[in-house]
Amino acid sequence: MKAATKRRRAPGTRASSNGKATSANGKSAAAVNIPRGETAAESPGWRRFVGRWLEAHQCKVEAAPRGDWEVELSPELQKRWRRQRVRLVFDSARPTVPRGAWFTAPGSVGGRRILEAALAEPLFTRRTALAQVPGAPADGLASVCRVRGFTWGPPRLGPVRYERRVAFHAVITRWGGLPWQEQWVVLVGAGGEVLERAQAAQMPEVRPREGLYQLPEELEPELRERWLGAARATLEALAEEREAEWAVSVGRLRDDELDRLGAFFSARIEEEEERQRRRAGHDDGELEHGDATSLKLEWERRAAEVRQRWEMRTEVRLWGIEEWSWPVADLEQELRSGAMHVKLRSAVDVARGRPAWPACPSCGSPTEMLVRARGTACCAQCAPA
Ligand SMILES: [Zn+2]
Repeated sequence: MKAATKRRRAPGTRASSNGKATSANGKSAAAVNIPRGETAAESPGWRRFVGRWLEAHQCKVEAAPRGDWEVELSPELQKRWRRQRVRLVFDSARPTVPRGAWFTAPGSVGGRRILEAALAEPLFTRRTALAQVPGAPADGLASVCRVRGFTWGPPRLGPVRYERRVAFHAVITRWGGLPWQEQWVVLVGAGGEVLERAQAAQMPEVRPREGLYQLPEELEPELRERWLGAARATLEALAEEREAEWAVSVGRLRDDELDRLGAFFSARIEEEEERQRRRAGHDDGELEHGDATSLKLEWERRAAEVRQRWEMRTEVRLWGIEEWSWPVADLEQELRSGAMHVKLRSAVDVARGRPAWPACPSCGSPTEMLVRARGTACCAQCAPA
C-alpha cells in the first residue's frame, strides 16, 4: 500500500515503459532530465559556436533533413571519438534521433562532448578588424554626445593606426535544474583594460581578416599574463552576475514545483484526516493517524529532492583566444559658444566607425552630454544644480 502511494505521488517524473517511476533513484532521474535538455530552446549562438568550432578543426559539415548536420570528422577528431562521421541533432523537441546520431543541444551528451573537446585547448587565432570608410560619422562627436548651449565645430579625424587587442571567448554553463549555456566574449585593450563584453560567440559588428596587420607577432610574456588576468577577473565577475540573475529565475521554477508538491500533499493529508474523523471511535484510528504522518514524511523527502535537483552551480570555461589588430584614430572637435571655444578629443573605433564618448573637460570622465557652465563645458555631474 505504501509503495503504491509512493509511486503515485512523484509529480513531474516520467514513468518508463514498464510502468515504474524512473525517479526511484535520483541518479537515473538526473540522467533523464539533464541530457535531453528538453526545456532549453535551441539557441542560434550555440549552433554557430558548434559550426565554427567544427570548421576550425577541418571537419566537413553538410546540412541534413530536419535541421540536422552530417559531419565528416577531421582525422584528429576521428581518433578522439572513434568514428568517421556523426549526425548532429539540434532540435531539442525531437522525440527520437537517427541511429548513432548525437543529440547536440547545450547540456546534452553530444553538446558536452563537443564542449569538452573545444575546451581541451583554447583555439588561438590572429585577426585584423577591417577599417570602415569613412572611419567616423560626418558629424563626429555629435553622433555620441549631446550638448546644451554650444554648437559643434567640424570634426578632425587623425590618421588610422593599429592597436593590439585580445578577445577571450568563454562558455558559462549553469548546471542544476535546467542546464544552460551562454557564449561570452571579453575584449581587452593593450594595457589589460576591459573594453567590451558581449553575449556572443564572436566579436560583434566587426569584419575580420586573418593575420595581424601592422603588428609584430611576438610579445613579452608579462603582457600576456596581464591580459589573461584581466580577462579571468572579468569572466568571473560576469559568471557571478549571471548566477545572481539565474538564481532568481531558477528559484521561481523551483518554488513553483514546491508549491505544486505542497498542494498535492496538503490535499492528501486533508483527505486522510477527514477519513480519520469519520472513523473516530473505531480502533484503527491510530493506523490512520500513522498514514498522515507518513504522508508528511514523504512530502519532506520529495521537497528535499526538488531542492537538490534545482541546486545551481556555475562554471566558466575559456575556449578561444583571439589576438586582434584593431584600427583606431584620434578625433578632435570644438564646442563653440560665441567667443568661447572648448577643444575636445576622443578616440574612434574605426572598425565600427564609432567615436568614444568625449571626456568631461572638468572631471575627465566620459560623458554623453555636455552643458555650458563655469565658463566652459562640463558634464551633468559637474554642472552646478
Ligand atoms: Zn564632469
